[in-house]
Amino acid sequence: MAMSVKNKEAVVLHSGGQDSTTCLAWALKKFDSVRLISFDYGQRHKTEIKAAQTIAKKLKLSHKTIKLPILKELTKNALTDKSVKVKAGKKGTLPTTFVDGRNALFLNIAAIYAKQHKIPNIVTGVCQTDYSGYPDCRNDFIKSMQKTLQLAMEFPFKIHTPLMFLTKAQTVALMDKLGGLELLKYTHTCYEGVSPACGKCPACKLRLKGFKEYGIDDLIYYR
Ligand SMILES: [Zn+2]
Repeated sequence: MAMSVKNKEAVVLHSGGQDSTTCLAWALKKFDSVRLISFDYGQRHKTEIKAAQTIAKKLKLSHKTIKLPILKELTKNALTDKSVKVKAGKKGTLPTTFVDGRNALFLNIAAIYAKQHKIPNIVTGVCQTDYSGYPDCRNDFIKSMQKTLQLAMEFPFKIHTPLMFLTKAQTVALMDKLGGLELLKYTHTCYEGVSPACGKCPACKLRLKGFKEYGIDDLIYYR
């Protein structure tokens, strides 16, 4: 007999940042029930995890945090190693903030977790528009990963990427439409992991640009 599948439920990969929180608001409209999963991989913007916990609490959602210290052990990058400077990628090179295999690993674990709850829907905030050079944020990768997860666990996983083709400004607009702008107050984006945010790192710049283009002020503080 086929395993029952809860098609109206979803697991949202939630980092505590702007994009994943927008995905959360999107998922709350689309699905009857939503669970959150976050990953603690020793990122320097650890305040993100706190932001994720705050938001989960506010919305009274089930929230699972998975510890993945292994990423830091295996890779050298600016997100987990303070001695590496945050730098955008030049032509043909990856930015120093790119973490090899991160999204594949996260999606795999999220899928394992989702399947235990018979949930086929996985929502992630990856986006290839304001492409910062992360290969695992592209639609091709997501399509391939979805297929891989289906084959790996024989379960009808569907990876939803509501932000895939949106600009940052359109992501702010989407959150406005979903009535979730207030939630952004609790999000954290800054790569430097400081609060108030630095306003200068690539993540802060992209976030600020989105709000500016949409024509409203960001809801978090900058130094
Ligand atoms: Zn910053």
